[in-house]
Amino acid sequence: MITHAEIEKLLGVRAAVPTVLSLYLRVPHDPPALRSLSARADDLLAQAGRGAADDPDAIKAQDADRRIARRMLEVHAREWLDRTVAIFACGEPRLAETVVLPCAVQDRAVFAARPHVRPMLLAVQRFPGYHLAIIDRQHAWVFRIAGEQMDRMTLPAAEGARTPEFGGWYGLETHRENERVLQLARHHYRDAASVLRRVMHAAGPELLVLGGHRDAIPQFLAMLPDDVRYHLAGSFIADPHTTTPARVRDLADQVIERWVTARERRVVTQVLQEPPGGHLTAIGLHACLAAVNQRAVRLLVVPEGGIAAGFTCQRCGRLSRTGTDCPDWGAASLAVPDLIEDMVVTALDDGAQVETVRDPPGGVAARLRFTLAPAEERSVRRRSPKSGAQRAAAASSGEQKRPSGSQKRPSGSQKGSPGSHTR
Ligand SMILES: [Zn+2]
Repeated sequence: MITHAEIEKLLGVRAAVPTVLSLYLRVPHDPPALRSLSARADDLLAQAGRGAADDPDAIKAQDADRRIARRMLEVHAREWLDRTVAIFACGEPRLAETVVLPCAVQDRAVFAARPHVRPMLLAVQRFPGYHLAIIDRQHAWVFRIAGEQMDRMTLPAAEGARTPEFGGWYGLETHRENERVLQLARHHYRDAASVLRRVMHAAGPELLVLGGHRDAIPQFLAMLPDDVRYHLAGSFIADPHTTTPARVRDLADQVIERWVTARERRVVTQVLQEPPGGHLTAIGLHACLAAVNQRAVRLLVVPEGGIAAGFTCQRCGRLSRTGTDCPDWGAASLAVPDLIEDMVVTALDDGAQVETVRDPPGGVAARLRFTLAPAEERSVRRRSPKSGAQRAAAASSGEQKRPSGSQKRPSGSQKGSPGSHTR
């Protein structure tokens, strides 16, 4: 299962120029169709990085990455039938990693200065790990679900409870490791709730799904401490003694899917819930760029697909469409293949919540922590005329003005420039 820690680790990989390849690809179901896969991969790989680097070294490095990715596909594609896989490749710093995603995402290949993680974040959001508790009048079983793994948790005996015993669920008797069934007598539900609380505390904050008899669920729910109930995604009715583990897993996954969908809808409502005259909502790419640049984002809602090319300033970190609207006027601009990715990473760095939805208002939207500074709002509304004026002002104050059309920083000069600094 993909975790936020794994994504963090990937984001720690950083090259000086856009030579980190991220390739996301759906591998077909049938082995004969694999031939079309390499053609599809070649198309994506050929399009990626085009125009992003005119430095011969970077071009060579990108070609080497393409070869690594093709080789990985050749060797492993048969292990990934009917799955979506992410391949990350880079020569310096060295990176060659594959991740199988739990869901289909849009095929894409991106060359950037670091791994492209938007599809990974989407996978974590749509397929979170969770706890599943199955309860009946005498027993409780707790599982931790992570990707395709379904592990039965060892339950410590609750205080005052009888010794936990093995037994019960026939389908699970063959299930590996530490099988232990709680058999509690009189205060069963209360004891089970306290045990579940301990198990969940130890694992960290995760969602909870309950399953069991129609009469058991409300009684058990009544015993759940508030801090456990807070994580409840929902419940389903099933007889633990006649339902197979596979069916139980399926029912639990459906609960999670409904919860995820409802949350995505809630997030969109939340971002749009601006009181009239309020200034805490940013809708559209320009407004959201301004918000991200001012570190004002509390919640960023981005689309599942799509890529918006732009620039990042290597001195002040400012993200923009043109690369010219910061005091450096493009002198330190580096082309980025996907501004939305950079907005996401900046927002996460700032502790903001980032959510991916199918169709965010305005293409991308944000809820802000504070009202944007007026200058920022002006620059968003009147970008073009102001850019010219400011560029002139910058030039007259001794700032070097780059010839128009060359905001894309030549990678060669960047590498040699002692003044440039990459994170
Ligand atoms: Zn700058």
